[in-house]
Amino acid sequence: MPKLNRSDWYDLARDMNWDFKYVTYDEVFPKEVAGEYEVPQQDWYTWDESYKVTYREYVLNQHEKDTSVYSVKTALERSKLFESLDHGWLSSLKAHYGAMVIPELLAILGESRMSRFGRAAAWRNMALFGTLDETRHAQIQLLFGHGLLQKDIQFDWTHKAVHTNEWGVIAARHLFDDMFTANDAIATAIQLTFTLESGFTNLQFLGMAADALEVGDVEFGTLISSIQTDESRHAQQGEPTLKILLKHGKDIPQTLIDTMFWRSWRIFALLTGLSMDYYTPLEHRQQSFKEFMEEWIIKQFVDQFRDFGLELPWYWDTFINELEWYHHALHLGVWTWRPTLWWNPDAGVSPAEREWLQSKYPYWEKQFGPYWDLMTENIRNNRIENTYPETFPVVCNLCQLPIVSLPSIVEAPKPKTVNYKGRTYNFCCEPCKWIFELNPERYAGHLSIVDRLLAGHIQPPTLEGALAYMGITPEIAGDDADKYAWAF
Ligand code: MN
Ligand code: MN
Repeated sequence: MPKLNRSDWYDLARDMNWDFKYVTYDEVFPKEVAGEYEVPQQDWYTWDESYKVTYREYVLNQHEKDTSVYSVKTALERSKLFESLDHGWLSSLKAHYGAMVIPELLAILGESRMSRFGRAAAWRNMALFGTLDETRHAQIQLLFGHGLLQKDIQFDWTHKAVHTNEWGVIAARHLFDDMFTANDAIATAIQLTFTLESGFTNLQFLGMAADALEVGDVEFGTLISSIQTDESRHAQQGEPTLKILLKHGKDIPQTLIDTMFWRSWRIFALLTGLSMDYYTPLEHRQQSFKEFMEEWIIKQFVDQFRDFGLELPWYWDTFINELEWYHHALHLGVWTWRPTLWWNPDAGVSPAEREWLQSKYPYWEKQFGPYWDLMTENIRNNRIENTYPETFPVVCNLCQLPIVSLPSIVEAPKPKTVNYKGRTYNFCCEPCKWIFELNPERYAGHLSIVDRLLAGHIQPPTLEGALAYMGITPEIAGDDADKYAWAF
């Protein structure tokens, strides 16, 4: 057993930055994968994380976490827990599993890139723990999702989703490839660990953990809280990396954060926005999505990045304005295109729910009420076919989400278009267009689901053809979570 205190050996053991004799520094850290951003080699050696952990401690902690999560799972296996869960809540779970679990596996690539190409030994050490964390997250959630498969076939998409061309999956994959699968180590630290993990994943993981315990889903609540504790440890890679970059100028880190902040906002509005404001049973809602955004993103995260001397992103007013309407507009579209989902969206617009929405979003009735009135009327008059779409929406060539606009504006804002090398690209908003134009070569080759339809990849070019292309089979295809009970 070691006789030294941890503080006596920790720095020596982890700070193994040595000089290379047989290869050059640039060969060890090629800038395509390591990133460069004109920071001198020696500066990276000042990289220092605030919360330290040794391998021995790491293994012990993780073992304890696994033991408690698995014992909750075993204890609940023979209970009637699953049968008692609300259908809307189950939809949140299915959306979460499909969109997040294989991306956890992909996050292993981002973490391992930092654990090999991070330019400081201390950083590589942290990232190695991050690699092990993401391995655990992928495996444990796959196991939990698999456990639910025999109860509900839509949980099959826990594993399947990311391997398909379902439209929401294309959007998630486009984002995650940009953020960590195909990103250099330095940008990954700023975009994945600082922007996403210190900011947005709190929404999904802390928000859903709170809601899970509230609706009585102890299994999922325990699982996701245990994941969140790992995330907050390895998210620490962002701050020291950011501090070093900032010594050499603000522009690069500001752009790295601003681009990924916007992209994260887009996907979390879809994932967390719908779950919190429509799928979670009314009596169990802790806060509205907007209130969660205000507390976790605007108050905590943005305050933190202002402490570093960074500015608010240039599109701030657009963002604040979208908090009122963007995810509501998405919800209307997502519910309408429900056969294209692997979960059953909960309309969430019974009279009591509408009252709640109106109390949280003062313009909700004015903007969205009339649309839901029409849906309600069609359902009551047994005209369900009128509630389905007949055409395909236009999709943004950056975020890959359907282009939606503020319904109360009579003349909807036109999509922004860019012509690049003879091809026309459509964007839902100025920030998405801005991100594309910062680095067009990075994004230009990608075809959105609608581009694929127009290019003849989807045959026949009908809803049925599109469903087959997306991998949606009849037993999976989404339908209203409450079988339209809310309309009566
Ligand atoms: Mn993770
Ligand atoms: Mn992570």
